[in-house]
Amino acid sequence: MARYTGPVCKLCRREGVKLFLKGEKCFTKCTIEKRPMPPGQHAQRRGRKVSDFGQQLREKQKARRIYGVLERQFRRHFELAEKRPGVTGENLMQELEMRLDNCVYRLGLADSRAQARQLVRHGHVNVNGIKTDIPSFNCKPGFEITVRDKSKTNEYFQTMQPQLSRKQIAGWMELTPGNMTGRVLRVPSRDELDITLNENLIVEYYSR
Ligand code: SF4
Repeated sequence: MARYTGPVCKLCRREGVKLFLKGEKCFTKCTIEKRPMPPGQHAQRRGRKVSDFGQQLREKQKARRIYGVLERQFRRHFELAEKRPGVTGENLMQELEMRLDNCVYRLGLADSRAQARQLVRHGHVNVNGIKTDIPSFNCKPGFEITVRDKSKTNEYFQTMQPQLSRKQIAGWMELTPGNMTGRVLRVPSRDELDITLNENLIVEYYSR
């Protein structure tokens, strides 16, 4: 269950765009707005023309960083997406969106995917009534995701619960704020996802 533990704003600076990895802070005190250059001593030298491979690599890295997934698991998502009928790029995005940590984030139970992942790993979430602490768990339409009764008395959930009704929930999810219970209504289509990524470049990267 490895995860990236280094500085996260550096990842946005490397990709040159806001990846929204820190929840609220991304809207108030964003680092990339103050220091828009790539990290590293020789950052200025990196202004060279990027090759096709370079573009594919950057797009893949960007997707990995947005969803907080390491290389091995990302490749596994890609292989599953490839096996499914339909457009591989869109399938890949749907695979990533249906991860349990992402669903918890989309329901508004966490401010960032990293925080959602931690809530899942610490055993605060039930899926269909069963404690599930695997962030990559694949949710399906109809699945019920809820905060465990034991966890509802936690300071974090006690503070967050009154704010839930004001949060914007993804259109393919439904949330009952009172008991912190959500449901996956359907798998989102690509147009519904607010993520600026060219997934075709990722498909090209893995098809080399
Ligand atoms: Fe990226 Fe958020 Fe850091 Fe801004 S504050 S650089 S969007 S992680």
